[in-house]
Amino acid sequence: MLRAMASIIASSSSAALTFDLVARCSTTRARASILTLPHGQVQLPMFMPVATQASLKGLTPEQLEDTGCRLCLNNTYHLGLKPGQEVLAAIGGAHKLQGWNHNILTDSGGFQMVSLLKLANITEEGVRFLSPHDGTPMLLTPEHSISLQNTIGSDIMMQLDDVLVTTSPDYVRMREAMERSVRWLDRCIAAHQNPTTQNLFCIIQGGLDLDMRRGCCKEMVARDTPGIAIGGLSGGEAKADYCRVVVTCTAMLPELKPRYVMGIGYPEDLVVSVALGADMFDCVWPTRTARFGNAITKYGVLNLRNARYASDFGPIEDGCGCACCREGGMGITRAFVHHNTAKETVAAHLLTMHNVWYQLDLMRGVRDAIIADKFPAFLRKFFADLYPDKEKYPTWAVDALRGVGVDLHTEDI
Ligand SMILES: [Zn+2]
Repeated sequence: MLRAMASIIASSSSAALTFDLVARCSTTRARASILTLPHGQVQLPMFMPVATQASLKGLTPEQLEDTGCRLCLNNTYHLGLKPGQEVLAAIGGAHKLQGWNHNILTDSGGFQMVSLLKLANITEEGVRFLSPHDGTPMLLTPEHSISLQNTIGSDIMMQLDDVLVTTSPDYVRMREAMERSVRWLDRCIAAHQNPTTQNLFCIIQGGLDLDMRRGCCKEMVARDTPGIAIGGLSGGEAKADYCRVVVTCTAMLPELKPRYVMGIGYPEDLVVSVALGADMFDCVWPTRTARFGNAITKYGVLNLRNARYASDFGPIEDGCGCACCREGGMGITRAFVHHNTAKETVAAHLLTMHNVWYQLDLMRGVRDAIIADKFPAFLRKFFADLYPDKEKYPTWAVDALRGVGVDLHTEDI
């Protein structure tokens, strides 16, 4: 496939990361760049699939590689429980464990604990919780999270942060969590053993309070980590609030560092967030929804469990380049997926391949459009495909894009 070529217009490097800016959209805040990490280059903007337990459910490393993925996400909490730090150290880290020679990003483990374990309790020391195995009291500190991530050997590690749902009405607690996240970043930086081979990213907190977000951006940027994440979103806040937080943060972040918005994966959210100046995203949704028989397509999500697909002999999506759909590929039909969705894991496996491809290819299209300086037209076509009726365009997306100079309602594609 021909991809747009672009030359580097500005660069910055730290010990284990190089960020090369290759294009700025002349209308929105979108940018295209190349991120060079210890296990090779990745093209931004990009979507990172989530391989929870060092495997993307249903995909082999070769199949994941075939989607074009060069950076996937592992969960520290799951790897720390099983196989555990000793086994990870013995095998030489998560790349070796899963036979994946490309890049890995790990979360801190904190969010998983708070969301999965009802009895997690946060103090200045760290996150206290009861072991899901035998109920013994345990403590995840910033130092322990970094030690685990150092053993995992991820190319990008995330700081332990004190994360609250954005919709929390408790201002005092929100401020405490934001300020504690800054203190915990300092402890993470001090504990980090491999700064020349692994990158530690900070996470901006502060809920939906824009002043708090600005204060946090200032503190975090001053710590000069190689990359910066915007955290605590996708927790049920209104999309308009989400966009306000992203656009407020990206305005304050250094241009020559990657910007990662955590937990975002719906196609509309991705393209709008890129327009607001973000580069990297992750979400379990594309792989999780595959297990419910859902195929993501440019015309929306199709549930292939629906009886009308029983005799539909077309590919999952016409024109898709994934291993299931492409010409000369596996020749998978909607009817075949439908036939297997209720009872066989093969359907989930095939839809996972398709959905991950869709997400990565969407971002490749976004990137090409930014480089060609046609991103506003790309956005208009994207929404026109997804919503045949313009009146149904989501108001939050129309408003957020208008805020960065794109009118979705003009006819001009
Ligand atoms: Zn496909």
